[in-house]
Amino acid sequence: MHMASVVGAAHAITDPEQMMPYLREMRGLYNGTAALILRPGSTREVADILSIANDAGVSIVPQGGNTGLVGGQIPSPDASEVVLSLARLNSVRSVDAAGGTMIVEAGVTLAEAQAAAERAGRLFPLSLPSEGSCQIGGVLATNAGGTGVLAYGNARALALGLEVVTANGEIWEGLRALKKDNTGYDLRDLFIGSEGTLGIITAATLKLFPRPVETAVALAALPTLEDVATLFRLAEARGAQSLTAFEFMSGFTLELVTRHIPNTRIPLREASPWYVLIEMSSASEGGVIETAMQGMLAEASEKNIISDVVIAGSLAQAQALWKLRESASEAQRHEGGSIKHDVSVPIAHIPEFIAEAGAVVETVCHGARPVVFGHFGDGNVHYNVSQPPGADKAAYLTLWNDMTSAVHDVVARFSGSISAEHGIGQMKRSELARFKSPLEIAMMRKIKDALDPNGILNPGKVL
Ligand SMILES: Cc1cc2nc3c(=O)[nH]c(=O)nc-3n(C[C@H](O)[C@H](O)[C@H](O)COP(=O)(O)OP(=O)(O)OC[C@H]3O[C@@H](n4cnc5c(N)ncnc54)[C@H](O)[C@@H]3O)c2cc1C
Repeated sequence: MHMASVVGAAHAITDPEQMMPYLREMRGLYNGTAALILRPGSTREVADILSIANDAGVSIVPQGGNTGLVGGQIPSPDASEVVLSLARLNSVRSVDAAGGTMIVEAGVTLAEAQAAAERAGRLFPLSLPSEGSCQIGGVLATNAGGTGVLAYGNARALALGLEVVTANGEIWEGLRALKKDNTGYDLRDLFIGSEGTLGIITAATLKLFPRPVETAVALAALPTLEDVATLFRLAEARGAQSLTAFEFMSGFTLELVTRHIPNTRIPLREASPWYVLIEMSSASEGGVIETAMQGMLAEASEKNIISDVVIAGSLAQAQALWKLRESASEAQRHEGGSIKHDVSVPIAHIPEFIAEAGAVVETVCHGARPVVFGHFGDGNVHYNVSQPPGADKAAYLTLWNDMTSAVHDVVARFSGSISAEHGIGQMKRSELARFKSPLEIAMMRKIKDALDPNGILNPGKVL
């Protein structure tokens, strides 16, 4: 195959064992096969590969760090597709600390991008538990979210420009560094979140921010979800721009974390139905942010919104509180099968959504246990449902479609989204058709046909 000669034998993988890490999603939910794995080392090589693939009608599956949770990066099982790994496009091309931008290639991991910003005394605020492995190309292709969205926005809000290789192998040099650019259709926004179905992102201009100098982190216990909503409004009102995280977890979620994750404990007097992790950050010194956090929590306590609270007194304590939140997914793995929903609803409806979803889960599987946590301030609920204790994992997972369909129906009643941050990939493709209007699907198809007329880019994903 000519495509292999573009990258050279060393970077065209056909050995089954070496191909394996590119063909399997980390949880084993998606397994594919491929004709070839290609690891180009430059944008030019990506363009040459696409040009050949487009002429020959060979399908290309772009892959970054292979941490995606909806199967978008995994090829089909019929060995007809080529996986294009962007991992070797891994240089930070430039950092403009004064201008607040940097240009990084698609294969730079999120952690490396954060470190490059830090070396320049700036902050790249996107943060995900998978940041050591996921790559900027994948992060933008999925419009990833994470814990910093409340203050800084999701990946889309953090990219000013893109370099993209089109389906026929042309290079769009759109690496602008402009905050304002109203010159017609926003092509950048088309490619962000398109999950590799419209073009290959090879580099991006990212926005940088001042680094917070002081941060206050607290864990509060709350009796009800309505209290969580009230505390959010108070934290927003008192914290304003300094409120950088407002994450919620059910009591059962933290019970699993402390049961399964070593060196974790809840540093509060009693177990509680709900917990919130609050972070406030400030670009100025002098304890301002600590005082603001204490004042807000004292007010919450006086109003009986929270039943208990701890404010981290050191960096180590702050990290220990964050570990509770960040271990939620991992802890759940130890409880057998888990059927996951990454949904969003308007913030005011989160309590009702969770109550109604709980009722439908029980009708689909008696005894199944919702493990609820997420980015409350973004309306984003990770509504994951663990199998009943002692149930057969495989049998439980056969309920996946029934369970997600029932929960998504509840999401729809609240005008929510069936994918808040993980994308559509293979997992939610059929659900998408249920929740988008025919007009929306038709417009999406027209865009796909216009940018990828031969349908070679990540077929079977999203649409
Ligand atoms: C433990 C864990 C925690 C996570 N937490 C979060 C979270 O909090 N928030 C969140 O949003 N996500 C989260 N994720 C999901 C995942 O990490 C993100 O979706 C991430 O952005 C994927 O990046 P990646 O480089 O691994 O992409 P991949 O998984 O390799 O690919 C994802 C999609 O992007 C496409 N793609 C990849 N690179 C390119 C490119 N250069 N050009 C065009 N298309 C491309 C692929 O074809 C695929 O459709 C989590 C995942 C794990 C494993």
